[in-house]
Amino acid sequence: MKSANQEIRPVTTKINSKGNIEIGGCDLVELAEKYSTPLYVFDEQTIRSMTQSYKSAFKAYPKMRMMYAAKAFMTKAICKIMQEEGFGLDLCSGGEIFTAKTSGFDMSKTLFNGNNKSPEEINMAIEYGIGTISVDNFFELALLNNAAQSYNKQIRILLRITPGIECHTHEYIQTGHLDSKFGFDLTQVDEAIDLIKNEYNNLNIVGLHAHIGSQIFERRVYFDEVDVIFKEIKRIKDRHNILLKEINLGGGLGIKYTDSDKPISVDEIAQTIIESIKTHSTKYGIEEPVVFIEPGRSLVGTSGVTLYTAGSSKQVPKGRKYQAVDGGMADNARPSLYQAKYTVDIANKPNENKDKKVTISGRFCESGDILAKDILLPEIEEGDIICFYDTGAYGYSMASNYNRVLKPAAVLVNNGKSDIIINRQTYEDLCGLDVIPDRLS
Ligand SMILES: *Cc1c(COP(=O)(O)O)cnc(C)c1O
Repeated sequence: MKSANQEIRPVTTKINSKGNIEIGGCDLVELAEKYSTPLYVFDEQTIRSMTQSYKSAFKAYPKMRMMYAAKAFMTKAICKIMQEEGFGLDLCSGGEIFTAKTSGFDMSKTLFNGNNKSPEEINMAIEYGIGTISVDNFFELALLNNAAQSYNKQIRILLRITPGIECHTHEYIQTGHLDSKFGFDLTQVDEAIDLIKNEYNNLNIVGLHAHIGSQIFERRVYFDEVDVIFKEIKRIKDRHNILLKEINLGGGLGIKYTDSDKPISVDEIAQTIIESIKTHSTKYGIEEPVVFIEPGRSLVGTSGVTLYTAGSSKQVPKGRKYQAVDGGMADNARPSLYQAKYTVDIANKPNENKDKKVTISGRFCESGDILAKDILLPEIEEGDIICFYDTGAYGYSMASNYNRVLKPAAVLVNNGKSDIIINRQTYEDLCGLDVIPDRLS
């Protein structure tokens, strides 16, 4: 079955009787008026359609556990939705741990992950009752064991390994290849386990963790990833007499940003993973483990759109037409960071022909602040509401205050209702952390 990550637009997208685009029963032009722009709009039904797709696709494997990689987009409201949907959370900073905890999230269903967790963050994770910690390197093993000792606690850990699998995605979002900053090389696993067995008595190793990359369109890499992990579990069992009963395969399922993207469905990735688990547990004689996946982008990416208002424009003589909008690289870093491409509509002109070539530029003081290069749209006029699709993941979460421009608001829409889930920053918020030393005042 098709899943929402294979659609460019949120599942509730329609053209309404006013001739405007609506999402979640809310007219985008009205949302722009009510909340001002730039505005992040998240469609609750699209998020829930993805969580449901994951749950039903993996039904055939009862020992499956789902987590949401919160770095894709995290707010307390999203934590609530994930909790309701029965998902855990994959967290990668003190800020994410704090957000989860203060949203009331069941911390036993969280995993703390990252290649340079600070001592303060590790202490916080322990104090807040983190479920499991994915240990990335030798330095962290020692740090974590010390912290666990001082709290007199046993900590459940996974070892993050680098499986040596290359997937065809942007270099910056590959993580599973051998020369990666993340995780233990497979040749270092024995030493890590010896240390845990002999010295680090407060660490309780329960499994292995890997994550091969992001925006992945291939099934084969997941099959191979499971193979590498099972082979390692078998090796660890034979050599150390320890049977690891949990594996975490990471996230990575791709979404459709433009017509040329052909992501696989949640059903397809689930079939591949389950088939590989069955194949390799038989092949290596290993009892079927508890298997975690932790998608980020595919759970929220398609649900989110960004609305901008068209402002100034510039026709370069014999060159490009630039149309500026009231946001840009500070609310969406992906085009300047990864040359990411998006599909764009004019929310108040959905029926007009897309026959004018235009480059949508941001308002920030960088020539690289281009949101979409040489795309086709109807003629844009000042005040038009420009809608960028698929900005739900790694959009707001990478937002900055570059040029001291305020971070946008985010609203959640459903059945004709819109609710703020992140307020727009205010100038007071912006200067709230500034301090003028006495000698300058
Ligand atoms: C970022 C990340 C994910 C989520 O990746 P997506 O491509 O957004 O699904 C999952 N696991 C780990 C360890 C990550 O770092």
